[in-house]
Amino acid sequence: MNNPIKRIGLILGFLFLFPALFFTAIEINSINESERVLENIYSNQLETILLSVNRFSDDVLNSWANDLESKNAFNNSNSFSYQLEDFFKNKRSLQNIFLTDTSYSRFTFFNNNNASSKDEIVNLLKSSQNKIEKLYNYITSGYRKLEPLSNDSLGINCVVYIVEQNGRKFLLGFLINPDEFINSVLAPKIQEVARDDIVIRTTRTKDNNLIYTTDKFFNDKPIETQKEFWLFPNYQIGITLKGESLENIVKSRSYFNLSLLGGLNLLLLIAVIFLFRSIKKEIHLAQLKSEFVSNVSHELRTPLALISMFAETLELGRVKTEEKKNEYYKIISNEAQRLSKIVNSILNFSKMESGKRKYHLEPANLNEVIENVISTYKFHLNSKGFNIELNLTDKLRSSKIDKEAISECLINLIDNGIKYSKDEKKLLISSNQDDEFVYLSVTDFGIGISKEDQKKVFDKFYRVPSNLVHNTKGTGLGLSIVFQIINAHGGKIEVKSEIDKGSTFTLFFPIEK
Ligand code: ADP
Repeated sequence: MNNPIKRIGLILGFLFLFPALFFTAIEINSINESERVLENIYSNQLETILLSVNRFSDDVLNSWANDLESKNAFNNSNSFSYQLEDFFKNKRSLQNIFLTDTSYSRFTFFNNNNASSKDEIVNLLKSSQNKIEKLYNYITSGYRKLEPLSNDSLGINCVVYIVEQNGRKFLLGFLINPDEFINSVLAPKIQEVARDDIVIRTTRTKDNNLIYTTDKFFNDKPIETQKEFWLFPNYQIGITLKGESLENIVKSRSYFNLSLLGGLNLLLLIAVIFLFRSIKKEIHLAQLKSEFVSNVSHELRTPLALISMFAETLELGRVKTEEKKNEYYKIISNEAQRLSKIVNSILNFSKMESGKRKYHLEPANLNEVIENVISTYKFHLNSKGFNIELNLTDKLRSSKIDKEAISECLINLIDNGIKYSKDEKKLLISSNQDDEFVYLSVTDFGIGISKEDQKKVFDKFYRVPSNLVHNTKGTGLGLSIVFQIINAHGGKIEVKSEIDKGSTFTLFFPIEK
């Protein structure tokens, strides 16, 4: 019985879940990949912006060097200060210029504004001899390179390069005040590249002191990409987006996509489970129906066979005594009743299924219905050896019921009580009421129903799959008919049962207001 269900489960899994998982894995991979690509592009872009600021400072210093060259400043050293008066104008960041020969013996400052002493500078130059030698090599090949040299503790920031004068080479240095340079020379350029979307901030590395920012309102926003200043290695320039950082945007986008994917998968899983369940239910129902057909055929065949056998015996005049004849008539009438009961229950069921059964609800007393049924059934019950105990509450309030339908329910419950009892042939039938309902219950002391099966016994065609039940005749329709009738009355049905101890079925009907 489980095989087709397992097979369908596997097919559904392969058809829906496997492709979904596969697609999810690919999608997660591609989301991660695009996240990496985007982050790379973004960080490259930030770096390019920072690079353009560095390049600009290089351009400024080159223009200073060109300017000095055009002034022919070094050909007439006597008029240095005079000629450079103009040069220093509008260059507040430029503290001084020095010129020295290779051995540092001829060392000249261009003006008297000395923030650092000659010795300190010469020491710095000597300690950077390697770099300086390279500058000499470059100039021999016709390339003038500017080299920043700094000594943070002495507060020296200079940029040196080699100049040629009458075939001789000298080292020239610009002594620069970085704070001033950043604020007066670089600020306009930084502002230009920052535009409205990004914030560029420059800080002194050692104390993280803010030197310049394009937007004070974003001072607390963490920097995303940071670079050393080419000109002042002990200063940093950092950049961040004013709005959400791209990393965060990409991250939240990825989270969103992943949760969407997860949600879709969950939905698919729920749909598959739902589909699987309803297919399972249908298969189960189909199995129950086929069991039902074989049950009913068996149920019909037995009384028919008995009726025809006894009728034939009577017809052939083989029964001699009146007593025997009466016994056979009784068998024939009982079996005919059984037949009509089965046929009726099938007809009732199919009427209910097609929604054609109409109920005639009228205020009535439940006790009356019970007493009526018992009086007609007493003989049948006694003949089966059953002892009935009635426990009806007086002054039961009235309820709107279809008496015929409720009698049918009660007969079904009594029939089951008889069928599923063992040695203790006793039925307890009682009525009672609470604030909302009047109720009747039928208790037997028979085989009982397991907790699991108690949920299923009201399903159509369901019969508890135990040997005893299968030896007992039935269609699996009785309780489902009872269930539908009670539903149509706006009532409810309860079962309390214990294996081998017995069962109590209680039918509740709303009290008439
Ligand atoms: P059936 O024609 O098989 O009796 P019902 O719908 O009346 O069909 O009952 C469904 C199943 O519930 C039965 O097959 C039986 O297994 C179980 N059942 C019903 N009533 C009782 C009871 N009083 N005691 C034990 N089992 C019961």
